[in-house]
Amino acid sequence: MNIAFYSTKPYDRLWFEPMSHQYDIKIHFLESPLKESSIPLASGCEAICIFVNDAVTAGMIDQLCRLGVKAILLRSAGYNHVDLDAARGRIHVLRVPSYSPDAVAEYAMAMLLTVNRYTHRAYTRTRDFNMSINGLMGQTLFGRTAGIIGTGKIGQSMIRICKGFGMNVLAYDPYPNPSLDVTYTDRDALFAQSDIISLHCPLTDDTHYLINQQAISQMKDGVYLINTSRGALIDTAALIEGLADKKFAGVGLDVYEEEDGVFYEDRSNDIINDENLIRLAAFPNVLITSHMGFFTREAMEAIASVTLENAAAFANG
Ligand code: NAD
Repeated sequence: MNIAFYSTKPYDRLWFEPMSHQYDIKIHFLESPLKESSIPLASGCEAICIFVNDAVTAGMIDQLCRLGVKAILLRSAGYNHVDLDAARGRIHVLRVPSYSPDAVAEYAMAMLLTVNRYTHRAYTRTRDFNMSINGLMGQTLFGRTAGIIGTGKIGQSMIRICKGFGMNVLAYDPYPNPSLDVTYTDRDALFAQSDIISLHCPLTDDTHYLINQQAISQMKDGVYLINTSRGALIDTAALIEGLADKKFAGVGLDVYEEEDGVFYEDRSNDIINDENLIRLAAFPNVLITSHMGFFTREAMEAIASVTLENAAAFANG
């Protein structure tokens, strides 16, 4: 089986190339993101392999089908970047349903600890030998209430971690899991009662802009908000307004509404014209990272092995 592998990240090749030799699979590393203009590079391949920054539209599915591509291998759990309606019955879409949920949950807690204790600012100060701790006072998390939205694999791991810190945990999920030792509540109560809100649900029509102006107005003053799920769970303009009104003590964003074409690349020498991103980055209590919650050795190994198993299973019918 021939796979057209879309990626601009050198670490992908490091994981996939050696493992691919265990399978009857030939990977063509394209060193390009998936775009209409780069689809012809998949000519002669039965499958393409992409990540969450590679949006697949209905038009691109037409193009892929015309080339004879029969499967889209996602190196991710989330699939909101693929037009599944257009794909149905025409091209198979295979994903990696779980790759180290603990990696993402641990990262969500790392973001919370960072924005709460201002480690990001302390680091830049002491690097310049500025040893002042003025303005860097945080809050103890013990005894605080964490509100977890989405109690799937990552949410469950986050619940365990928050409990380990001695926090009270509230949860919201339209499909509550009765086996979990957690207090489920409705969304409004979670917004109103939580000191920390961490998002762990997928991006769907129902969750798009889940955190909007109205939701923010229901939250406690001085709330912490952590998003390691998908950017469009948050209405960024409403978030900026809330930050300007000093509603939030801290915000951690590993994902961003407009991350396509901005995240994952070194843009330090480019002129960034995304006003929202510029405004967000200027708040000292906001920590933005480039969708790296998953990025551990264990997760990369799982992504590569499950993607290749998906490819092999597809090739064998
Ligand atoms: P999962 O499918 O195991 O769990 C998702 C949970 O969300 C389910 O329990 C589901 O019932 C719940 N849910 C569905 N609709 C909801 C709604 N309207 N409100 C609240 N909850 C709702 O998924 P997971 O593996 O725990 O991953 C969660 C999300 O994390 C993924 O969708 C993905 O967007 C994100 N993710 C991010 C990274 C990263 O690197 N930052 C890596 C992997 C996954």
